[in-house]
Amino acid sequence: SANVLWFRRDLRLRDNPALLAAAGQAGFGDRPSAVVPLFVVDPALWRPSGAVRRAYLAASLGALGDRIGGDGLLVRRGDPVAEVVSVARAADAPVVYAAADFGPYGRERDARVAAALEAHDIRLEFVGSPYAVAPGRVTKGSGEPYQVFSPFFRAWCAHGWREPAGSPRSVRWEYPLVSQDLPAAPVPDGLSLPTAGEEAALRRWRSFRERTLADYADARNRPDLDGTSQLSHALKWGEVHPRTLLADLDPERDETYLKELAWREFYADVLFHRPESAREYLRAEYARMRYAEPDDAFEAWCDGRTGFPFVDAGMRQLRTEGWVHNRVRMVVASFLVKDLHVEWQHGARHFLRWLRDGDLASNSHGWQWVAGCGTDAAPYFRVFNPVTQGLKFDPTGDYVRRYVPELAHLHGKTAHTPWEVLDGYAHGYPERIVDHAEERAEALVRLAEISRS
Ligand code: FAD
Repeated sequence: SANVLWFRRDLRLRDNPALLAAAGQAGFGDRPSAVVPLFVVDPALWRPSGAVRRAYLAASLGALGDRIGGDGLLVRRGDPVAEVVSVARAADAPVVYAAADFGPYGRERDARVAAALEAHDIRLEFVGSPYAVAPGRVTKGSGEPYQVFSPFFRAWCAHGWREPAGSPRSVRWEYPLVSQDLPAAPVPDGLSLPTAGEEAALRRWRSFRERTLADYADARNRPDLDGTSQLSHALKWGEVHPRTLLADLDPERDETYLKELAWREFYADVLFHRPESAREYLRAEYARMRYAEPDDAFEAWCDGRTGFPFVDAGMRQLRTEGWVHNRVRMVVASFLVKDLHVEWQHGARHFLRWLRDGDLASNSHGWQWVAGCGTDAAPYFRVFNPVTQGLKFDPTGDYVRRYVPELAHLHGKTAHTPWEVLDGYAHGYPERIVDHAEERAEALVRLAEISRS
């Protein structure tokens, strides 16, 4: 017999407690066991993931297969209930191990799989999760969840996390059924993705830690610089575990970076307690606001043709890299909700379609934060000015020129204000589709309407 290790969002061999448990290497007295390295391509997740994430996931699964060596991963396609049960039965497995999943769909799927396995006397056992502190663990003294980040952050730090779990000794992999091919997942035209897999993620982490981390607090807001770790996709797919990163941090010196990892955990915690917040307003009154239907202006936003250079650069970065700098995510999201008055869910859906790091918790709650209807004290009247934000955070104009070729002829920060220079529109850059000052005032009127009622 062999235990099954069911990989989901934990596509690595190092620091993988579920793997150690499955191989019988987790602690003293364990009996060594062969392990079936299973990945199930679940149509319910595969199709809606969008081409970008499918392509990245396929590459990451390939890299994991290479790390395993030999026959690589055992891939099965279909309903996880049927597939996990048939693999576990074929392996004569006493236990199927997995890292716990806390998303709304994952929890429901896991309950179904656990029940189906139980009917065959097989246990589904969760060891670890994609988080340093599993969602639901950090609560107020009363047992209530935190609604606001700062107290959550303090409690999360006080709770603490385990040391990294280390690497397994050699594992005996077993294949009780034939592997199926992954569905085709071509990289969309015009898009380039970073190298996938845990080796690439660890290389990226080491280079960021050595060259950039010390300046992170200052550089992180500058999209024209390579000032952030660009590990969100690796964290999303578990190519690296946050625990591995946390073990390298000095909590005082690196507090800013630590806090960003904590935001990811906070949003997962919020989604765990309020699964409906993936799509619904955390502050219910915002559902009553007057919004615009997505029309031509929405299409212009999606395509990076709003006439606001910082916004357009961000939306085009999304299409070419499947990633956007955090500062720019905030500015483009604010533009959609407050300048175009379109509901955040439309923007969130577009992001999820194109982001290589697309994550239900961080995305929905990042959008709700910007829209002002989220957990945190982000007042609606904070409307980002897309021009001054650009001038402040891309002071060189390099970011805009990199993604908007029609503005590449403009020097320095004039790339942010083509309307102020004679040849600003010489290469076909579009005029601004709205007047920011007017739309800002309109956004405040709409807010006042729901505040009064
Ligand atoms: P770094 O600055 O190097 O930060 C390190 C890690 O901390 C990130 O990899 C990420 O895992 C985490 N992190 C950083 N900032 C945040 C944050 N504000 N919220 C949650 N986690 C954070 N992040 C996603 O991973 N997936 C998403 O789908 C996503 N959608 C977003 C949508 C909007 C509208 C906004 C404003 C933010 C969104 N974020 C999302 C958060 C953030 O923009 C990205 O995590 C970050 O830009 C990733 O780049 P990085 O790895 O270089 O980050």
